[in-house]
Amino acid sequence: MKHTEQFHQKHILVLGLAKSGEAAARLLHDLGAIVTVNDQKPLADNPQAQKLQKEGIHVVCGEHPTSLLDGKELVVKNPGIRYDNPIVEEAIKRGISVVTEVELASKVSEAEIIAITGSNGKTTTTSLVVEMLKGSAREPKVAGNIGVVASDVAREATADDVIVMEVSSFQLMGTSHFRPKVAILLNIFDAHLDYHGSKENYVAAKKKIVENMKEEDYFVYNADDPLVSKVAAETKATPIPFSRSTVVKSGAYVDGETYMFRGEKIVEKGDVVLPGDHNVDNVLAAMSAALLMGATKEQIHHVLSTFSGVEHRLQFVGTAFERKWYNDSKATNILSTTAAIQSFTDPIVLLAGGLDRGNSFDDLIPALQKVKAVVLFGETKHKLAQAAMEAGVETIVEAERVEDAVRKALDVSANGDVILLSPACASWDQYRTFEERGEAFVTSIEGLQE
Ligand code: ADP
Repeated sequence: MKHTEQFHQKHILVLGLAKSGEAAARLLHDLGAIVTVNDQKPLADNPQAQKLQKEGIHVVCGEHPTSLLDGKELVVKNPGIRYDNPIVEEAIKRGISVVTEVELASKVSEAEIIAITGSNGKTTTTSLVVEMLKGSAREPKVAGNIGVVASDVAREATADDVIVMEVSSFQLMGTSHFRPKVAILLNIFDAHLDYHGSKENYVAAKKKIVENMKEEDYFVYNADDPLVSKVAAETKATPIPFSRSTVVKSGAYVDGETYMFRGEKIVEKGDVVLPGDHNVDNVLAAMSAALLMGATKEQIHHVLSTFSGVEHRLQFVGTAFERKWYNDSKATNILSTTAAIQSFTDPIVLLAGGLDRGNSFDDLIPALQKVKAVVLFGETKHKLAQAAMEAGVETIVEAERVEDAVRKALDVSANGDVILLSPACASWDQYRTFEERGEAFVTSIEGLQE
């Protein structure tokens, strides 16, 4: 870790605990800052805050008086706290800079950073880059939005490592000096507009990933996405385009049956296990970043011919009863389920349903026309049955939960079919998380008998 002096004796407010707030408070305390932590949860049932207090950090819990900002020179904000929160608004009004914990990570990191962002595909691409860099000269260390606190990783990493960091737009908003060696921008869709207020602000947040990059850094970007290409036109970093539709000689592209990078053959399409057109983008982006940072073609081939997807994201579970089973429990909206359905050419039995957010499923009808049977569960099962009927799906079956939907799916399917859990809904009506729902799917497949 770089023992920077810049926080020494500085009065800093850490707003919002969670894992990243706790790590930020401890890091700043160790760097000699005078830290105050402010968290919503009362101290009595806030073990994290109690722990920090014992370590000598000032803690204020259960309220957010703006007087906490008096004398402060910096606010480190949890990415989930919005900018229209009164205390954040007040900080900005007073001219106090507001950052997120990834900014701190970049300030103390000795290791170079590969930063990955986009509306969709971040976790998949981050995981691919990490796997591709294994065994290369520098040890890849995963960090960021993927569930590993960035500043914790940055503290431990040395110049012999490379940090592969998933960054969300919320995290990027709070950066000012963040400068990755390689940045990937996968795509920009309409997402999180409630948080950012407008598409313009959302694009501006994503753009921050390149703000401090220089010519010797690389910006790997989706040349098929006009908004992303606009960012590329404005950065100082060396642009490395990727495209699944055109030959971009200075970057990564598909030439017939081969994935290429700067004119060199990297891997045959047929050797890549990950299904789905959207994953072509993730593969092209990941392979570009990995090659730029020293990965070998052999390792990339090994990863792409074995990596079957991140858990719960169109993950190939395996073949059982001569059906191919896929877990896409992370697909909690119509867009993701549509992408999943479009990833297959074999007949599909779709398992869907979950929390009712009051939306209609009309937009799912075109995709459902490709599906041979649906097995529906959860609060939305009747709505989904209606959509499936309108799409002309041959077999519509209702179940209670994922557990019995698996058995019913086996009964209505045939050899060679794809059985796909891609719910198009959140899980909270029946499961605590989408992970728990995906695990119920996998366990139920394992428990199946003829
Ligand atoms: P994120 O971390 O950005 O949420 P994930 O890698 O977890 O992305 O993928 C979540 C879902 O997003 C996948 O199940 C898939 O439906 C969709 N997706 C993944 N990659 C892409 C992409 N490059 N373009 C469009 N959709 C994608």
